[in-house]
Amino acid sequence: MSPVISLEQIQAIADSSVTLPQVPLLGMSVAELSDWVQQHGQPAYRGKQLHQWLYQQGGRSLADISVFPKQWRADLADVNVGRSALHYRSEAPDGTVKFLLKLADGRIIETVGIPTEKRLTVCVSSQVGCPMACDFCATGKGGFTRNLAQHEIIDQVLTVQEDFGQRVSNIVFMGMGEPLLNSENVLGAVRSLNTDVGIGQRLMTISTVGIPGRIQRLAQHQLQVTLAISLHASNQALREQLIPSARQYPLAALLAECREYVQVTGRRVTFEYVLLADVNDRPEHALELAEHLQGFQSHVNLIPYNPISEVDYQCPSDRRIQAFVDGLKSRHIAVSVRRARGLAADAACGQLRASRELK
Ligand code: SAH
Repeated sequence: MSPVISLEQIQAIADSSVTLPQVPLLGMSVAELSDWVQQHGQPAYRGKQLHQWLYQQGGRSLADISVFPKQWRADLADVNVGRSALHYRSEAPDGTVKFLLKLADGRIIETVGIPTEKRLTVCVSSQVGCPMACDFCATGKGGFTRNLAQHEIIDQVLTVQEDFGQRVSNIVFMGMGEPLLNSENVLGAVRSLNTDVGIGQRLMTISTVGIPGRIQRLAQHQLQVTLAISLHASNQALREQLIPSARQYPLAALLAECREYVQVTGRRVTFEYVLLADVNDRPEHALELAEHLQGFQSHVNLIPYNPISEVDYQCPSDRRIQAFVDGLKSRHIAVSVRRARGLAADAACGQLRASRELK
């Protein structure tokens, strides 16, 4: 079992992480870019051109903006646009593409592009590593380095959009990291991805293991984004076994905060539940989970465990998964099973980085 570290300590570590010295352009609105160009002696309309070039054309250096005066382009060639470098790309037979991106300080993060017939979903990271240390998660096993800046989150979406040559339709904050430990930058990125990149808030999902008080605070923002809670257990003892922070944020308190979220926002909450064979997949777990969610405006998303090398959990059989689904359905709980994507590319979140970082 992981060592006990208090949530205050975890937050302090996240807050103390490095912030980069020069504010990059990525993340700025049209108005901010118009101010910026004027501060650099150019007319305001060039802000709009810069905005278009940044968010729609994949610009990486101001030296390349052909509509700008030659001398000015040359003067601004070193301005930090805020794009990360592609470190590694791996494509699965089903079309899922995993990217490793190298940040300005050399850190590596993982992003996944998941195409379906009608959608292109991006699974974005919110931190380099993760301090939550969930027992079945590859990212958690690798420890925590720092929060991602706003532009480093936006960049992931643009990278996938450019690679696929197709507009991104959905964003899920289900990559590396705990988004609610980096709320300010995550919410800044959500705003920019919505207004600058043009992705609807309703098509974005923030997934969290739950940090006391943060769900309530998120509700105050009255966003249209979907909130997904990584529940993974139907009782307190089981959750503590899988998620170290559950010791300080009991299941009952988490569920109470979620109920309040539904009341304040009028939006239903998704509960994610990783199915681990013989750990949390028994019929009585399904019934216990259903008890908690009676009358709750919610939806359960079952995630069959994606094996990682550090622990020896097993993924339940299809029959067992179906029995869990049926158990919830018999109690009128809305439930779906997440289809595994891109397994051939490099299995679960965090594993690709672990296997490629040192190469
Ligand atoms: N920290 C956030 C978001 C990142 S993880 C959170 O916990 O919600 C995104 C989802 O993937 C979470 O539900 C997480 O529990 C799940 N996950 C992590 N490792 C997994 C694995 N090996 N197999 C299946 N799902 C996993």
